[in-house]
Amino acid sequence: MKITLGKKLALGFFIALMGSLIITGIISNLRISNEFSKYLVDEHNTRINEIVKFIEDSYNKDNGFSGDSQEAMVRNANMNELYIEVRDNSGSILFSSGTTYMQHKNMMNSMMGEGKNGMMGNLSSINSGEYKEEKHELTKDNSVVGTIIIGYYGSSYFSSNSLAFINNLNQSFIISFFITLIFGLLITFFLSRQIASPLEKITKTASEMRMGNLKVRSNIKSNTKEIEELACSINYLAETLQNQEELRKRLTSDMAHEIRTPLTTLKTHVEALIDGIWEPSKERFQVFYEELDRLSKLVNNLRNISKLEQAGITLNKSKFNLSSEIANIVDTFKPIFMRKNCMITAEVAENIIVYMDKDNLKQILHNLLSNANNYLEINGRVKVSLFEKKDHIIIEVEDNGIGISEKDLPYIFERFYRSDISRDKNTGGSGLGLTITKSLVEANGGKIRVKGKIGEGTVFSISFPKNICL
Ligand code: ADP
Repeated sequence: MKITLGKKLALGFFIALMGSLIITGIISNLRISNEFSKYLVDEHNTRINEIVKFIEDSYNKDNGFSGDSQEAMVRNANMNELYIEVRDNSGSILFSSGTTYMQHKNMMNSMMGEGKNGMMGNLSSINSGEYKEEKHELTKDNSVVGTIIIGYYGSSYFSSNSLAFINNLNQSFIISFFITLIFGLLITFFLSRQIASPLEKITKTASEMRMGNLKVRSNIKSNTKEIEELACSINYLAETLQNQEELRKRLTSDMAHEIRTPLTTLKTHVEALIDGIWEPSKERFQVFYEELDRLSKLVNNLRNISKLEQAGITLNKSKFNLSSEIANIVDTFKPIFMRKNCMITAEVAENIIVYMDKDNLKQILHNLLSNANNYLEINGRVKVSLFEKKDHIIIEVEDNGIGISEKDLPYIFERFYRSDISRDKNTGGSGLGLTITKSLVEANGGKIRVKGKIGEGTVFSISFPKNICL
């Protein structure tokens, strides 16, 4: 049987609460009543010793007890709920505090047998309430002259005040048990609600996402770290799925657009030829060829990307001087940039020798520099730098071209993604160049990042760990 988290937590808290209350109650009750009984017994013994001392002090070998001291002994006995009897060595009674206790004593003795409780100092079954007697020697001038018998009921330890105290204590225990129970139940309820309710909301959000609503977000504010993190993760997941969904839609339309453009050109040209509007000429076929070339390049690029992504590429690594390789590539691009009245410069740290795929490096730089060329305005500038930073080698391609808007930056490496401005510029690109570049960089163990601002320029930065150096 499945039970909800809230119920499970509440049940767990409740069992723990009850358990600790019962255990604490039993232990503290036992300890307090034990200590209290011990205290009462000590009190009782002190009291009896004082009485014995008083009797010994009041006894006179010749005259026995004076009238005053007998009165005081009766008062003492009544006050302390005791029976006091003093006998001489021959067994004759010298003093007795009254008959009430004696009658009871006789009754008890006839039932239980003489002398059973008569042992000196025997304090067993102290709280049972049964009648007991203690015998003490009556000593005068260091000689035993008689016996002092002190009788009492076990319960007489507990004066009415001490019984009231014990009752109060027990009542306080019961009251505090119920108060703690109610308090604990309330806390249990709030705590389990506090944990279970945000989880229920998160589950609801996840279910909505499963039904296809990727716009839903869980706006839970919780002071429980794990719950807050879970809510953030769900929101992040929703955000990522939503972005992926949008990308997928955009990818389909972008791909259709890239394929449709050359096909439309081809179709209209062929139709014009069929209808006899155009004469077949070398120039016309040249246009066909260029469009077909564009299409086949597109298909090739797509195939390369899927190869790169699926199986990875086989790297053809070799040892070469990265510094001079970059300088050479920059040199080959100089005339291309100059044709547009643009300038390309290199700032390359010398003699960095690496072990990596040289063709990949060429293609990476070729893609970045072609893009820079495409998106530069007249009199633009491109700077290629190579430098070391901590344990990385950095290659940067920086231009002051049209730049990339903030909204485009996260998608720039996605297949077919092209900013709206670049589409308008009709550069002939297909939005696959950076996807390929990224895959090549990563295949060689590097990372590529882009920074840019619309109208100010773009910086592509590639970092390779220094372990590719030799
Ligand atoms: P394309 O073939 O369209 O150049 P890429 O994948 O190489 O495809 O680039 C994707 C998009 O990134 C481009 O369409 C353009 O919007 C943007 N982009 C790339 N490089 C630059 C750059 N140097 N300056 C401005 N925008 C750039």
